[in-house]
Amino acid sequence: MSRGGGTSLAGQCTNTAVVIDWSKYCTAVESVDVAARTCVVQPGIVLEALNGELAPTGLRYGPEPATHANCTIGGMIGNNSCGATAQRTGKVVDNIRRLEVLLPNGVRFWCGKTTDERYAEIERHGDLRSAVYRQLRALRDEYADEVRRRYPDIPRRVSGYNLDSLLPEHGFDVAGLLVGSESALVTILRAELELVPVIKERVLVVLGFPSIDKAADAVPAVLPHEPIALEGIDSRLIHDQQLKHINARALHELPEGNAFLMVQFGGDTLAEVEKAAHEMLAGLDESEHGPTVAFLDDPAHEEELWQVREAGLGATAHVPDKPDTFEATYNAEFLSHHYAKRQWRRPRSDLSMGWLPAIAQLVGRLRLGSVVNAVTHAPLLSRAAVALAGVENREIPKFAAEPLHRWFSRRGARGSGSRGTVLLWPDTFTNFLHPHVGQAAIDVLEDAGWR
Ligand SMILES: Cc1cc2nc3c(=O)[nH]c(=O)nc-3n(C[C@H](O)[C@H](O)[C@H](O)COP(=O)(O)OP(=O)(O)OC[C@H]3O[C@@H](n4cnc5c(N)ncnc54)[C@H](O)[C@@H]3O)c2cc1C
Repeated sequence: MSRGGGTSLAGQCTNTAVVIDWSKYCTAVESVDVAARTCVVQPGIVLEALNGELAPTGLRYGPEPATHANCTIGGMIGNNSCGATAQRTGKVVDNIRRLEVLLPNGVRFWCGKTTDERYAEIERHGDLRSAVYRQLRALRDEYADEVRRRYPDIPRRVSGYNLDSLLPEHGFDVAGLLVGSESALVTILRAELELVPVIKERVLVVLGFPSIDKAADAVPAVLPHEPIALEGIDSRLIHDQQLKHINARALHELPEGNAFLMVQFGGDTLAEVEKAAHEMLAGLDESEHGPTVAFLDDPAHEEELWQVREAGLGATAHVPDKPDTFEATYNAEFLSHHYAKRQWRRPRSDLSMGWLPAIAQLVGRLRLGSVVNAVTHAPLLSRAAVALAGVENREIPKFAAEPLHRWFSRRGARGSGSRGTVLLWPDTFTNFLHPHVGQAAIDVLEDAGWR
C-alpha cells in the first residue's frame, strides 16, 4: 500500500500491508515545461517543496490542502484533494495531465485522455494494458447514460470513482478515473501536473457572523465576486485554539462573531484586487447577511490568519479538560498499534463510544430505552454513568422511545415513488437517539417523489 504524508483524515494509510513510503526517496521534479505550464514529478514530493522548486518559473500547482507542508503529490492524487484554493483551481482531477501507473500484476503505463486513434493503437498491442482499456471502454459504454444522469454536479464531489472522467465528452481520461482511487486500483509512479500562474497580489477579507449557518447563508452572495480561496471556520475551532493559546495574535485580528468566512481575492495589481473585495463587501451590505469585517492586505498578517485555519483541526486534538479529544490522523495509526493486544488500556470513552452501536441495538430490541434513560439521568446516578462511560463534560445521550426503523415499519412507506426507490441508511445516532432527524429526512424524500 502506498503512503505519502499520511495525513489522510480517514486513516487511508493505515492497514495490514507492505507500506511503500514514497516520501523518502521518490521526491524529484523530473522536468518543467514553462510554456505548456506542466511538470513531471515523482509521487513522494511534498506540495510545499514542489511549489518552492517551481517558484522561479512563476508557476505553481493549484490545489492546496491545509496540509500543504506535509502532503505529497501521490497522496493528493490518491485522495483527489483540493483545499481552500479549489475556488480558483478545482480539485486534483482538474489539474492532472497524465499519470504513470503500475497495476498489481506488474503492468506499467502512462495514461491520460485517450483519443479514438490512441485507443486503437493501444488495442493493437493485444497486451494486458489493452485488456484494461477494453474493459474500461466497455464499462463506460454500458453505464455512460447512467453516470451522466446520476453523478451529482457538485464542485467538490470526491466520493466514489471518477467514472465521469471516462465519458467521451471528458476525453476517455483514464488518469482522471484513477485520481481519488486511494491506492486501491494502481500505484502512481510519476505524474504530469498542470500548473497555474502564481498570483501577484492578494487581499484577505475575514467576515464574521453570529453562527456557522449564517456564514453558510452568505456564501452564494460571495461567490459571484470570484474569490480565489474561500474557507469557513466555526467557533469550536477558534475556541479550542484559545484554550491551547495557539495563534493568539491572529485570533485577536478576527472580527466579532462566532463563525467566519475567510475570503481571498487575487490578481495582477493591488488596486484590482481591492476593488473586487470592496465590491463583495458592498454587495453583502445591501443583502440580509451584513457581516462584521477584517480587511487585510499585508501578506504577513494574512498568513497569520490562514494559520488559524491550518491549526484549526489540529487544535481540536488533546484539548485541555477534554480527555476524549485525540489528534485526527497521526494518532489513529499510532493508537491502533499502541492498543493492539491491550484493549483494556483504552480510555473508557473509546470503549463506551465504540460499543454504542451494539448497546443501542440491545436496548432497542429489549425496549429498555426509558429505563436506561431514567438510570443515566437520575441526579446521582447520572454522574456515575458519565464517569463510567468516560465522557466527562458531556451528557449521556437519551434513547428515543421508538427507534427510527421500528417507527418506519409501523408507519409504512408513503412516497409515490414517481422518481424511484431509495435506501435510507440511518446511523446509530439517528436510529436510536435522534429518530426525528431521520423522520424529517424521510418526509423530505417522500415529498420529493422518492419511495
Ligand atoms: C488538519 C488537516 C487538514 C486537511 N485539509 C485538507 C484540505 O484542505 N483539503 C483536502 O483535500 N484534504 C485535506 N486534508 C486531507 C489530507 O491532508 C489531504 O488529502 C492530503 O492531500 C493527503 O496527502 P498525503 O500525502 O498525506 O496522503 P496519504 O495520507 O499518505 O495518502 C492518501 C491516499 O493516497 C494513496 N497514495 C499515496 N501515494 C500514492 C501513490 N504513489 N500511488 C497510489 N496511491 C497513493 C494512499 O494509499 C492513500 O489512500 C486534511 C487533513 C488534515 C489532517
